[in-house]
Amino acid sequence: MDLYEFQGKELFRRFGIPVSDGQLATSPAEARSAALELGGPVVVKAQVLAGGRGKAGGIKLAETPAEAEAVAHQILGMDIRGHTVHKVWIERASDIAREYYLSITLDRSAKQPLFMLTTEGGVDIEEVAARSPDALVRLHVDPLVGYRSWQGRRLVHDAGISDVGEQRQITAIVGKLYEAFVGCEAMLCEINPLIVTTEGEVRALDSKFTVDDNALFRRPEIAELRDLAASDPLEALAREKGVTYVKLDGEVGVLGNGAGLTMSTVDVVTFVGGRPANFCDLGGGGDAQGVVDALEVITRDPQVRAVFFNIFGGITRCDEVARGILQALEQMRLDLPIVVRLDGTHAEEGRGLLEQADASNLFTEATMLDGARRAVELAEAA
Ligand code: GDP
Ligand code: MN
Repeated sequence: MDLYEFQGKELFRRFGIPVSDGQLATSPAEARSAALELGGPVVVKAQVLAGGRGKAGGIKLAETPAEAEAVAHQILGMDIRGHTVHKVWIERASDIAREYYLSITLDRSAKQPLFMLTTEGGVDIEEVAARSPDALVRLHVDPLVGYRSWQGRRLVHDAGISDVGEQRQITAIVGKLYEAFVGCEAMLCEINPLIVTTEGEVRALDSKFTVDDNALFRRPEIAELRDLAASDPLEALAREKGVTYVKLDGEVGVLGNGAGLTMSTVDVVTFVGGRPANFCDLGGGGDAQGVVDALEVITRDPQVRAVFFNIFGGITRCDEVARGILQALEQMRLDLPIVVRLDGTHAEEGRGLLEQADASNLFTEATMLDGARRAVELAEAA
């Protein structure tokens, strides 16, 4: 789960990483009163889950509350790389002397958290990595040993930060960033830029914070930060129903049980010339209610022209799945063609149930390939 800048900064603040004072606003009038309360010049920053806001015109300086109101009026409603701006963060403006970059992320190949620090911050880090890879200092932390303060000093030294005041402040921030990363079960905590003000103070001016979705169940205080309005409404519905759902952009809705079979089904649909609209993984259980929920999510996607149900019954019993499909047909008005391929445990009973039901939009196929072909044909005909 990605957090907005203002949420990431709130977490930074809780872990003792210095940030500027600010307030959230959802209207130009709120922006004006926030600027008034903060006093002096402010920066109005678009809150979207996308980077490069500065370049896109989503970050603007305002000298007065009236200017903050005008600038917020421009930014609210703006589209930044497909994300509409609904909120702005009004922050006391900083006088920047230097912009650095500091992050900690999970290095999967090393199976360890990885710190990166460079004095060439502010810009795209990929650019720095390509242009001057030596300027980007890297350091792994052994999670079993934990963070040690020499590691912060090593990073700061290797990055060529020579000012003693900066060294002291950044070393402390590195340690606190590690605490935030572990304490929030994050996958990424990035500060770009980490600024040095003209007074020599070091602060996090931006935040990119990604929390491990699989840890959210034990981090309710972070899970509640999720902005349901920003996410895809179908993804939100799927999450609510506990269905694994991924949106793609074709015409065939794909349902499988188990990640491996579901991914293969997506491939086979593509192989026979179709394009998957989305896919749902029923998982190992596949009880009737699970099937109803998954069908509801899949068929709410307006791009779906036909559904391909591909079930290999192991733990999942095909007759249970068939009952789920029939239950769904009773509960919802489903006019879309549904192609079902059932194989494995209780497959014959399952197919029997579907045939007895005699629904005109239900088609059974014996193999995955034939099922995919039929679904693609039906999607094209629709
Ligand atoms: P991003 O473009 O989405 O990465 O947004 P950032 O929060 O990193 O802001 C982009 C750039 O705007 C920064 O690198 C700064 O140069 C500038 N900026 C942001 N806040 C301030 C501020 O308080 N004062 C000044 N002078 N510049 C700022
Ligand atoms: Mn940034």
